[in-house]
Amino acid sequence: MELVFFHIRHLVEIFFVQRQELLASLRTTSPSVLIVGGGINGVGTFRDLALQGVNTFLIDRSDFCSGASSASSHMAHGGIRYLENGEFRLVREAVHERNLMIKNAPDLVQPLPTTIPIFKTFSGLLNAPLKFIGWLDKPSERGALVIKTGLIFYDAFTGRQRSVPKHIFENRAKSLKKYPHLNPLVRYTATYYDGLILSPERLTLQLVFDGEAEGPHARALNYVSLSGISGDTVMVHDEVGNDELTLQPKLIINAAGPWIDRINRTLGMATRYIGPTKGSHLVLDNSELRKAIGDHEFFFENKDGRIVLIFPLFDKVMIGTSDIPVEDPDDVRCTEAEVDYFIEMVSRVFPDIPVTRKQIVYRFSGVRPLAYTRARNAGQITRDHHIQEDRAGKFPIYSLVGGKWTSFRAFSEQVTDRALGFLGIERKTDTQDLPIGSGTDAGLRLTPDYTRAEIAMMAEREKIVHLDDLLLRRTLLAYLGQLTRPLVGQMADWLGESLGWNEGQKNAEIQRCLEILADQHQARL
Ligand SMILES: Cc1cc2nc3c(=O)[nH]c(=O)nc-3n(C[C@H](O)[C@H](O)[C@H](O)COP(=O)(O)OP(=O)(O)OC[C@H]3O[C@@H](n4cnc5c(N)ncnc54)[C@H](O)[C@@H]3O)c2cc1C
Repeated sequence: MELVFFHIRHLVEIFFVQRQELLASLRTTSPSVLIVGGGINGVGTFRDLALQGVNTFLIDRSDFCSGASSASSHMAHGGIRYLENGEFRLVREAVHERNLMIKNAPDLVQPLPTTIPIFKTFSGLLNAPLKFIGWLDKPSERGALVIKTGLIFYDAFTGRQRSVPKHIFENRAKSLKKYPHLNPLVRYTATYYDGLILSPERLTLQLVFDGEAEGPHARALNYVSLSGISGDTVMVHDEVGNDELTLQPKLIINAAGPWIDRINRTLGMATRYIGPTKGSHLVLDNSELRKAIGDHEFFFENKDGRIVLIFPLFDKVMIGTSDIPVEDPDDVRCTEAEVDYFIEMVSRVFPDIPVTRKQIVYRFSGVRPLAYTRARNAGQITRDHHIQEDRAGKFPIYSLVGGKWTSFRAFSEQVTDRALGFLGIERKTDTQDLPIGSGTDAGLRLTPDYTRAEIAMMAEREKIVHLDDLLLRRTLLAYLGQLTRPLVGQMADWLGESLGWNEGQKNAEIQRCLEILADQHQARL
């Protein structure tokens, strides 16, 4: 009981520690470890180091989970298609981690029935051997036999964890009975289970809170960027107070995802670890399609061989995604060509359900921080993760290259073990069976219709700096197309009351938010 009271008192304390006080305290005491990047990999490592009692400070130049981690397809998945590339280790690890996410964060990650419509029987049998000897750029369509083999492996990897049921195969007649709108050319459907991450943003935030709840040795701040290095001193810039701060950590963890090479350049090193590829999604308000898929994700091969998805997201449907090599991770948007592609692809599976541009309520794009390679087909680049170790001045720098949302815990554990070895500290706690949050995220209702008191609570506790933090990441209002101009105004009023904004600041926040919505999400209110 005493422990519970300590925990609650401690939580209350940290929620009220002011940004300025924290920044001031860093002027006198430097952290042992500086993590640059508040996406899932930086935050996962932050939590793990916090649990081991390591003095750690995490910064993000923007909000937590605003980079690649907010652009994901929301799948906690093993990646069945990577089996074809022979990546058994990756798939086994990711399936294991998927199961742990469902167990440890049940309010935010749920089992997701996933259906593959299959139009061929024997096709694709040679994909894997031809890829192995390097003769295949574009795989041929996967038929029933290839998919069945993959699913047998997939089930086997779930092993004794049994957190989701085994796959089933159904013939044409049964499939059409179950999904009357399905393309009648279908020969079979296979249904297996993965995980649905209801809100990647909330899950990331919860891990930040879990890390901070370990004690004052672990702190994380959004809107602080890494800006330079001079000898043994690292400079960080407070984007809110427009102030510079110097730190002298023992170790830097570069968890900047697609921006990893840029951070290394800031630290004086020329690296080329990342080969970024863009992926976009649309969120549709299409009740006919939503009803047709039920609560299943439809995961299938489009005419051009790309694996794409139609996904249930609350009362909306999410569709995606692309995989296009890009140069500048700051300059990605969902293009009209991508929109055409996504709209067209639905007709392969549900030909009689019309999809139009008018149904789009939200678009989003992000950049996968994949390991740099000369592979010609972006879909064949490995999604596995590894640490690149360098030195700038006296600091070792670990760059966290690649990875999937799903395997964040395992990657964080690997990074933390390396850091503990360097610092000469023993691991005290394992994260494998550790619940995320309380298991029931009390500060959260994922559906809209928030009350003023709830907004005030989020403002007080959830490190909100800008109006867009609230509308795009603490709530699902933007994602689900619930925003209207008056609602944005009302939210700005409520948030501004709690954060002490004057009229000028409030209007500037509204303007900033509308610009982000229009520019990055093509949502014009
Ligand atoms: C389209 C798409 C779909 C995907 N779908 C899935 C999926 O369904 N399932 C799955 O498992 N994985 C998926 N992934 C992969 C997964 O999302 C990423 O591998 C993962 O989110 C990478 O996280 P990260 O923390 O390494 O990078 P990020 O989330 O990008 O975090 C890096 C952070 O660094 C910050 N930063 C940059 N520069 C600075 C600076 N100077 N100072 C301080 N901070 C800085 C950024 O603001 C950013 O928040 C998908 C990725 C994409 C893009």
